[in-house]
Amino acid sequence: VALDADDSVVVIGLGRFGQALAVELANAGVDVLGIDTDEDIVQSLGGVLTNVVRADATKEEVLRQLSVPDFSHAVVAIGSSVEASILVSSWLLRFEVENVWAKAINDPHGQILTQLGVQHVVYPEADMGRRTAHLLRGSLADYQ
Ligand code: ATP
Repeated sequence: VALDADDSVVVIGLGRFGQALAVELANAGVDVLGIDTDEDIVQSLGGVLTNVVRADATKEEVLRQLSVPDFSHAVVAIGSSVEASILVSSWLLRFEVENVWAKAINDPHGQILTQLGVQHVVYPEADMGRRTAHLLRGSLADYQ
């Protein structure tokens, strides 16, 4: 699962979650292809990511044109359109991309992604809520 030096990552959906993830990886020297339908987002990340393209990632031909089937790692960071998230994830699984990560906005969304075969489903709000509880307990411990 861990990234090798020559691995590339495709990040689909560059909202708050996808953008933070893509930029963090790029800053760590990882080759990152970002895909988003929003022209302003794509413009703002030009030069930050290795490659950033404005495209609808639910379309098979778009994904093939961008060589997405050749990537070893992919992240689906589309949230509010569950349909788009599921469509993109199912293409990635059909392409047999080895490591697929996807964000879920709620439990039913996450269940569907898991059932499809997505190995890594993350729930940003729930995960961060739990993490914050641990941080809070740690900082409480500092005062005891
Ligand atoms: P976040 O919480 O990370 O900001 P979100 O859960 O609100 O995101 P969305 O706004 O639905 O999720 O999607 C995140 C990004 O994915 C947006 O920048 C949006 O333009 C992009 N996106 C949505 N559908 C597609 C698609 N079919 N192809 C490519 N990008 C898409």
